[in-house]
Amino acid sequence: MSPYFEKLQEKLEYIYQLNSVESFLHWDEMVNLPEGAAEERTKQNKVIAELAHLQLTDGEIADYLEKLQELPADRLSLPQQTLIREVKRDLDRASKLPADFIAELKAKESECYHAWAKARKDIDFKSYAPKLKEMVDLKIREAEIVGHREAPYDYMIDLHDPGMTAARIKELFDELRGGLLPLIDKIMGSGITVDLSELKGFDLKKQKAFCEEVAGQLGFDFNRGRLDVSVHPFCGGNSGDVRMTTRFFEDNPLDSLFSTIHETGHALYEQGLPKATYGTPLSQAVGMGVHESQSRLWENQVGRSREFWKFWEPRYRELFGKELSGVDSERLYRMICSVTRNPIRVDSDEVMYNLHIILRFELERELIGGTLAVKDLPEAWNAKSEEILGLKPKNDKEGVLQDIHWSMGAFGYFPSYSIGNMIAAQLWDTAREKNPDLDNSITNGEFAPLLKWLREEIHQYGKQYRTEELVQKVTGKGISPQPLLGYLKARYLPLYQA
Ligand code: ZN
Repeated sequence: MSPYFEKLQEKLEYIYQLNSVESFLHWDEMVNLPEGAAEERTKQNKVIAELAHLQLTDGEIADYLEKLQELPADRLSLPQQTLIREVKRDLDRASKLPADFIAELKAKESECYHAWAKARKDIDFKSYAPKLKEMVDLKIREAEIVGHREAPYDYMIDLHDPGMTAARIKELFDELRGGLLPLIDKIMGSGITVDLSELKGFDLKKQKAFCEEVAGQLGFDFNRGRLDVSVHPFCGGNSGDVRMTTRFFEDNPLDSLFSTIHETGHALYEQGLPKATYGTPLSQAVGMGVHESQSRLWENQVGRSREFWKFWEPRYRELFGKELSGVDSERLYRMICSVTRNPIRVDSDEVMYNLHIILRFELERELIGGTLAVKDLPEAWNAKSEEILGLKPKNDKEGVLQDIHWSMGAFGYFPSYSIGNMIAAQLWDTAREKNPDLDNSITNGEFAPLLKWLREEIHQYGKQYRTEELVQKVTGKGISPQPLLGYLKARYLPLYQA
């Protein structure tokens, strides 16, 4: 083997650790940071980001790549080819973007984020619109600089899900929407509603204990990670020390539990990436869509199954007997699977959720494509809401101002959530086909067989395959909305039969 592989890996691990520092600073910011220290933290982030960029572009990696690219391709293993391809991809992008452009982008992100936070609080889109317009322009300029003048939105999507395009996503989403609408009509038409207001006064300490117990049983290694509290749950840190967060409400215990299971899904992916190649693309997630498929699979396919609750309900009642005394098993399960029309994406259930994503995809595609102006966003949002979700937001806080993503320039990110949902259902079907005893093992609280299968089929490969390539390899088919639609029908129609 060429010694340059080793040198490359060493240097990549160095950069990875630098980036990890930024990730832990972010975790600390979300979990611990005193309010008055935010400015200090911004400066620290800037230092680390600059150092990491310098390391990546100082010529050393470019030299190694040059040497490695001289090797005959047919003598390289698939992981070696992956390494070269992915490092080249990162380096290309990083070296095309001038340092002052990156600095401008970072500054704009922070400015635009604060403008968004204030506008959201004051419900005042107009005050935020000029900043958002600058952000859109800047991201389009980024696409141009990197060489994607023709299709800037495709470039943004590819950053999150390698190999995906807006045209492919549109095709998938149109089919998904076509299948969801009649299902939602049936659910809404049943007249059945589920009242969650009875879930009250759940002790926070006991909730945390239960969440930790569940995460541990699913396979989360607390020896290489933690569960803490933040306003918005997330999974950060690095693969060797995964930091996930959740949040707790006395009167909404299902939120903290399912947020925890969701983040545990992300965490299990990170903890399952191969240790020997940490810091290289061989130990990095394929992309956001596949990452999200892992969290959704554990949260929804597993966590909302009757099998899962057959195992966990007795323990849940042991901890919360008094609080659950008026709620029988069937009612509890219906609460877990309740479906409502909700203007807010993050409060939305798994049936309605994808419509929220389709709405955002259609809008950002027009926004980046230049056929929708930022100032017209609220109106377009409300019109699409009525058309797609069947409701009109009360105000912009419930509408166009609800998400943080665009303020941070994260265009092309939203589709990953629904790509993840589709992949999760597809993986679930294959996992059960290949492991006929899977439902039984879940009923017995044994989650290791599923985790083992995911480790072997997904986690061990890092970035070796592109999003759709991986799905094809594991399931024998390209990405399709049909498994998701089939799963949703099987789970929800029996619960919502008029
Ligand atoms: Zn997630």
